[in-house]
Amino acid sequence: MPTPLQRVVVIGGGILGVSTAVHLLRGGAGVTLVTEAELASGASGRSLSWLNSAGERPDPYHLLRMAGIDRYRTLFAADPSRDWLRFDGALYWGGAGNEEATSRRHSSEKRHGYDSHLIAPVQVGSLTPRVNPAAVAPKAIFNPGEGWVSLPHLIEFLMEEFKDLGGDLVTHAGKASVVLTGGRATGVVTGTGGKHDGDAVVVACGPQTPEVVAALGITIEDASPVSMLVVTKPVEHGLRAVLNTPRAAVRPNPDNSLAADHDWYEEAITENADGTYSVPESVVQELLDEVAHLIEGTPALEPASWKIGRKPIPGDGEPVFGELEQAPGCFVAFTHSGATLGLIGGELLAGEVLTGDKHPMLASFRPGRFPR
Ligand SMILES: Cc1cc2nc3c(=O)[nH]c(=O)nc-3n(C[C@H](O)[C@H](O)[C@H](O)COP(=O)(O)OP(=O)(O)OC[C@H]3O[C@@H](n4cnc5c(N)ncnc54)[C@H](O)[C@@H]3O)c2cc1C
Repeated sequence: MPTPLQRVVVIGGGILGVSTAVHLLRGGAGVTLVTEAELASGASGRSLSWLNSAGERPDPYHLLRMAGIDRYRTLFAADPSRDWLRFDGALYWGGAGNEEATSRRHSSEKRHGYDSHLIAPVQVGSLTPRVNPAAVAPKAIFNPGEGWVSLPHLIEFLMEEFKDLGGDLVTHAGKASVVLTGGRATGVVTGTGGKHDGDAVVVACGPQTPEVVAALGITIEDASPVSMLVVTKPVEHGLRAVLNTPRAAVRPNPDNSLAADHDWYEEAITENADGTYSVPESVVQELLDEVAHLIEGTPALEPASWKIGRKPIPGDGEPVFGELEQAPGCFVAFTHSGATLGLIGGELLAGEVLTGDKHPMLASFRPGRFPR
């Protein structure tokens, strides 16, 4: 039997840090959660958060995402009235001339038993409300089992349990780093000079994860691009499904708003001297005009906010979960699909921290795979 952990320090107040922290508390560890600014101030505060395993990917990643969706379904079933977690399906279509690729995507989804329907525009209205059939490509895919979550709401929900279970939260800590003693992780020092000891440390710093472990001499390759999420002012849109289309991705958001993103405007984003980002307001409106065209009646959409920052993507596109071989006691969680994997990733990683047993579903995703 491993010695029970007295305390774990988790760095990062996004969905992966919060989810891991809550699962550690449920398992009986004491937890200090340290984050640079406010909770959800990183990628989790500006995520489209489409819950899915659509498209084609290696089996281990698909299975992990399906387990991720499973945990959300359990949460949904406990209270289907939540306006921040919905399973109302999603529609996908590609650009003009991409019908073959759409058929291949559908076939590969069917091959692993994913609920996937190849449809024509005329069928859309009977499957999901308020999508403009004139905007839909000749071949589209409807995935009725997919959904979306608002991560700031989920984080708030999980933090209630965190507090009930006696977790210790440190916000506005500045940039924290991992302390090694004799090569083993023994705690964290914060950017504001605080010191927090622990028997283990979890690094869940979103796109900054590679930088935090680089300070320990460890390489995790990084391909995190700059991205933007736009949230609209409240509007009677009636949309239920998540839409993934050639020029806009959009989902409903609490309070009758919509959340939208894409990648075609990446080059219009500039980085300021202080590390923040800017984009011309005309680009924000152009994205919303694309979204409006997807909805029946073309509602006038106005931006309430647009948030720009890096979207965490490991160098090889696959998740990174587990203990650092070169720094025992230090665990990392760094992934692209962090909304879909938020609950399952925290659960499995916390299990590894608590027991020392490596979970087979994380076997493909170890941090040691990157060249030293
Ligand atoms: C535009 C966009 C669209 C997306 N769409 C989807 C999608 O459709 N489906 C999906 O599954 N996923 C999606 N994602 C990805 C998903 O949102 C992220 O993978 C997930 O939110 C990452 O959570 P995290 O906890 O790892 O990181 P973050 O939310 O970034 O949290 C990390 C936290 O750590 C803090 N931090 C960083 N460094 C330090 C330090 N040194 N010391 C202290 N604190 C530190 C940061 O301030 C931040 O609060 C999207 C992301 C973006 C940005």
